[in-house]
Amino acid sequence: MNTPTYHRFDTIIVGSGGAGLMAALHSGKEVGTAVVSKLYPMRSHTGAAAGGIAAALSNIEDDSWENHAYDTIKGGDFVVDQTPVEILCREAVECIYDLEHMGLPFDRTPDGRISQRRFGGHTRPVPGDSSKREPVMRSCHAADRTGHMILQTLYQQCIKQGVTFFDEYHMLDLIMVEGECRGIVAIEIATGRLHVFHAKSVMLATGGFGRMFKVTSNAFALTGDGPAIAYRHGIPVEDMEFYQFHPTGIYRLGVLLTEGCRGDGGIMFNGKGERFMETYAPNMKELASRDVCSRSIYEEVRAGRGVSGKDFVYLDIRPSTINKYKSSPIHRDGLEVDDHFIESRLSESLELSRTYLGIDPLKEPMPIQPTAHYAMGGTPTDFETRVLRNASGEIVPGLYAAGESACVSVHGANRLGTNSLVDLVVFGRRAGKAMARFAKENDFKPIPKDAAAPTKKQIESVLSKPRTEPWIRIRDELQTVMMDECGVYRTAEGLGNASKTVAKLKKRYESTGIQDKGTVFNTGLLEYLELGCLIDLAAATVASAESRKESRGAHSREDFPDRDDVKHFNHTFATKEGDLGVKIDTRAVDVIYVEKDGQKVPKYPLEVRKY
Ligand SMILES: Cc1cc2nc3c(=O)[nH]c(=O)nc-3n(C[C@H](O)[C@H](O)[C@H](O)COP(=O)(O)OP(=O)(O)OC[C@H]3O[C@@H](n4cnc5c(N)ncnc54)[C@H](O)[C@@H]3O)c2cc1C
Repeated sequence: MNTPTYHRFDTIIVGSGGAGLMAALHSGKEVGTAVVSKLYPMRSHTGAAAGGIAAALSNIEDDSWENHAYDTIKGGDFVVDQTPVEILCREAVECIYDLEHMGLPFDRTPDGRISQRRFGGHTRPVPGDSSKREPVMRSCHAADRTGHMILQTLYQQCIKQGVTFFDEYHMLDLIMVEGECRGIVAIEIATGRLHVFHAKSVMLATGGFGRMFKVTSNAFALTGDGPAIAYRHGIPVEDMEFYQFHPTGIYRLGVLLTEGCRGDGGIMFNGKGERFMETYAPNMKELASRDVCSRSIYEEVRAGRGVSGKDFVYLDIRPSTINKYKSSPIHRDGLEVDDHFIESRLSESLELSRTYLGIDPLKEPMPIQPTAHYAMGGTPTDFETRVLRNASGEIVPGLYAAGESACVSVHGANRLGTNSLVDLVVFGRRAGKAMARFAKENDFKPIPKDAAAPTKKQIESVLSKPRTEPWIRIRDELQTVMMDECGVYRTAEGLGNASKTVAKLKKRYESTGIQDKGTVFNTGLLEYLELGCLIDLAAATVASAESRKESRGAHSREDFPDRDDVKHFNHTFATKEGDLGVKIDTRAVDVIYVEKDGQKVPKYPLEVRKY
């Protein structure tokens, strides 16, 4: 292999999704900034986000950031850090107006303000009766292409700001010296050349890892590279047991039909034509939180009430159905839903159904099943986005993280829809500013001459090994065992089985090489290395799920069906030990206290989570 090419920037951001671009924009205003991304920015998964971005603007209905904070904490089943949640919900409003001023083409109300719609779990007290709550319109949207528009807007602004982009460069290692992060090593996909990026601060914004599961809404590139590479350097991953399954994936394919379908009045039916969410969430029905809806679908299927006895149910967005149940918010204004209304607000979902299912949702209901969607866990950070070295909260100087790959812990055990995009922009902005500050206050510190040597060795070892079996088979088996044993429902036995299987798969993975031994555009090599990341994160996920002996949010243990606030009101930190060993620590949840009648009481008291 050739000598690596050397680059130097004040800040390096790995990942060009919403989190990476927002950070790059704010860092790029102050110091020399580069974005390194294995995909072209416009292909980042943020571009697939359809439903919208949450902020309590009160444009259509009265709302407040406090309502948003309460919903987010309850949605996360209370293992949510409350200081960052308040930051999220307060700064959300400002960030939306920032995006608007940058040119993001939000949909509008008739009087020209940013339009908003309903999403699961977003509520406000019922006017006149604050003991009850009702759905509220909080999701700002640009048709059902909100994420795409966020990427377009931020990318343009980054270019204007002079941010340097290294597109189709794949990070393979962090340069860690004396416990500090001083850069990264990446491979240029087109040529196979290695590049060393020396930096004062590095940010991981590499997105999620839904590819760990068989049925997923996530793009192929979502393999958790950032958290996995940090994990190998002894940096923990937090709350990995909390993985969200979205209720409305296209049957068998997992491709996502946005929750906006239900926000605009879509209804789910079982095989007997019953609106089953009336049983599981009598108040919020289809707009209960995602974990609740996904479990309800599983329960229906288990009880033999799937469509034609199979493992799917229907999502119905036909105007005739929506009008019959008066389930759209526009019914309150005395209006009716028609084809045009659905076409204009949900065009992307219509197109997905027509393309992948051959079903026109204006005429027929769509078969759906839960699909692996979102990682609540990831690399732990404080609310300045600085990465934590351990459960005691020490930081790793020079290393930052935000977006889906990070866990600042605003989503707890279950994220609410539209709360990821807002997490990207709020904490992406904070990361950019914090990194720029750090870069101004610190000089470049030396890195070893041969910083790329471990990466070079890793690649040479893969290329020189004989191929004993196709690595794709190992990936398939990993995805299957994770879906079956560490999916919507979990048991000690299933997790034990998953743990043994992952260990065996790791051995097989390490002993096989790959077919393509070339250096140019060797996508087989990169996918093989991505699989290594998935295996390490799967081991951490299973160990975290085994350690949490309760059911909370997206983590449902059949052998421990109740929430246990005495033993488990905390975060899980998983650290790598040896080859596949995982050490589990816990960290207390950040709770805000207020004075009431001369006493200190929690501002957001624990309650039973019902919708
Ligand atoms: C289909 C779908 C619909 C969704 N809809 C919504 C919604 O309506 N509202 C909402 O709030 N959330 C939604 N979400 C969730 C949300 O879109 C994601 O959580 C969010 O976009 C993640 O953004 P990110 O910036 O963290 O990472 P991503 O946008 O996933 O970007 C990751 C970046 O990291 C780069 N990268 C990864 N590994 C490497 C590596 N080794 N080297 C270099 N670069 C690397 C990639 O190239 C990419 O640029 C949706 C998710 C999906 C899958």
